[in-house]
Amino acid sequence: MPVIKNIKTILTAPEGINLIVVKVETDQEGLYGLGCATFAYRELAVKNVVDNYLKPLLIDRDVHKIEDLWHLMHNNAYWRNGGITNNAISGVDMALWDIKGKIAGLPVYQLLGGKSREAVPFYRHVNGTTLSDIVEKIETFKKQNINHVRIQWGLYGGIPKDLNTPPNSEPGVYSNPTQYMLDTIKMFEHIRKHFGDELELIHDIHERLMPSEAIYLAKKLEKYRLFFLEDPLPIEQVAWLEQLKSQTATPIAIGELFNNPLEWTDLIKNRLIDFIRIHISQIGGFTPARKLAVFAEQFGIRTAWHGPGDVSPIGHAANVHLSLNSHNFGMLEWWGFSDAIYEVFPGMPIVKDGYIYANNKPGFGIDINETLAKKYPIKTRVTKWTQTRLPDGTLVNP
Ligand code: MG
Repeated sequence: MPVIKNIKTILTAPEGINLIVVKVETDQEGLYGLGCATFAYRELAVKNVVDNYLKPLLIDRDVHKIEDLWHLMHNNAYWRNGGITNNAISGVDMALWDIKGKIAGLPVYQLLGGKSREAVPFYRHVNGTTLSDIVEKIETFKKQNINHVRIQWGLYGGIPKDLNTPPNSEPGVYSNPTQYMLDTIKMFEHIRKHFGDELELIHDIHERLMPSEAIYLAKKLEKYRLFFLEDPLPIEQVAWLEQLKSQTATPIAIGELFNNPLEWTDLIKNRLIDFIRIHISQIGGFTPARKLAVFAEQFGIRTAWHGPGDVSPIGHAANVHLSLNSHNFGMLEWWGFSDAIYEVFPGMPIVKDGYIYANNKPGFGIDINETLAKKYPIKTRVTKWTQTRLPDGTLVNP
């Protein structure tokens, strides 16, 4: 049986976003796997865990024992479920699935039971500065047969006007929640009127409202028939979901910040969400994500894995393989990657006519060109976009 001979972290930022890829090498010539450990804003901490703790733990272990090795990594630090540790574990875990696929000569979705669908539907982001800008960007996607769009006027929290901020307030990204909420209702009215009923619409509140405001917005948006409304509440306030769900039929998607199974168990078994959309590396990789998908299926809850630019292409490929297999797949978020990403990561999933296709190579089917990756060094810096504030200067969730 092949054993683990080396584990390394590859840090690269082809689009300016810090990506962390873990490469697990075996004692068999040319047999290796790749996994996503991308925690874009704490990249050196993740690298440290992989290089100094997981690597010495795993050298000479049997690559086939994914389940056992996942639990070994999970329990090894005694304290469990932290974001940094989970991402580090994910890098190794996905790489082991990639290796298993390569040994079997099969794409990973085949190891899970095969395809439930030939290709994966996805949505793209539309962030516009004006309503006509939003319309124009949707038109561009419609020409590519993309019928699911996430629409935001501005980005998270909208584009604030006339902020009356006290002098000497702290620097940060300011927003006005009331204005954002009212602008969002106007945007949906405009987009539905312009495009009619068939376009599928998504919106991300990104935790920017107070619970009662989020309930108000979810109710107001009901008549525009959203595909889902994302992160209406911060994870600390999910107890409000019972009130939200009892008042509106707007479908709810939550989960990209989750780290710990306790954060989703009750939401799923009490059917308080419609879509679970965790960031696969953030919960510890492919192994726990696969179990979560199966658990959610029992309760009629669909998957919509997190797929922005701060998930590496390896993570996106893992999202695609899981989405091909899961009977309860709902929707996938897809980032429009630049040419630099396609160069550094050969074997990206194939996007065509509103669907994503796996390339059907063994494993996750995706590789990394380490020489090219070096051309795009990461930058470790203070994260600014998360320093979000209300007009009076209060710091709030980003
Ligand atoms: Mg989101």
